[in-house]
Amino acid sequence: MDSCIFCKIISKESQAEILIETDGFVVFKDIYPSAPVHYLAVSKKHISSVKEISTADEALLGGLILTAKLAAEKLSLSGYKLVFNVGKEGGQMVDHLHLHILGGWAKNKPNTVNV
Ligand code: 5GP
Ligand code: ZN
Repeated sequence: MDSCIFCKIISKESQAEILIETDGFVVFKDIYPSAPVHYLAVSKKHISSVKEISTADEALLGGLILTAKLAAEKLSLSGYKLVFNVGKEGGQMVDHLHLHILGGWAKNKPNTVNV
C-alpha cells in the first residue's frame, strides 16, 4: 500500500529503529512511546485491521504473537502487555495490522497503561 506508513517502514522507504526482521514480520520502536519500552510488531502483508482478518490469516496471527514474544525476550522484558487497537473507536490510528509491545515499568508493580 503506497500511502501506508508501516508499509513504507517495511520497505525501508521510511526510517524506523528495527529490532527484528523475519520473512513475514518486522518489529520496530514506536516513535511516540506510551511506555518506557514500546515496540510495534507488524506483518509484512498489509492487512488494515483485526476487523479484516479471516481464518486464512490464522498462521500469520500466530506468527505475529510469536514474533512479539521473541522481541520481548530480546528486550529482556520480564512482564509486558500485547495490545491490538481495533478501529477508530478502539484507538487505532494506523490502518496496518500491528501489535503493541509495552513494558519496562518498575518490577512487580501492576500497571494500567492505555495505548
Ligand atoms: P495505533 O494507535 O494505530 O494502535 O498505533 C499506532 C502507533 O504507531 C502509535 O503508537 C504511534 O506512536 C506509532 N507511529 C505512528 N507513526 C509512526 C512512524 O512513522 N514511525 C513509528 N516508528 N511509529 C509510528
Ligand atoms: Zn501497510
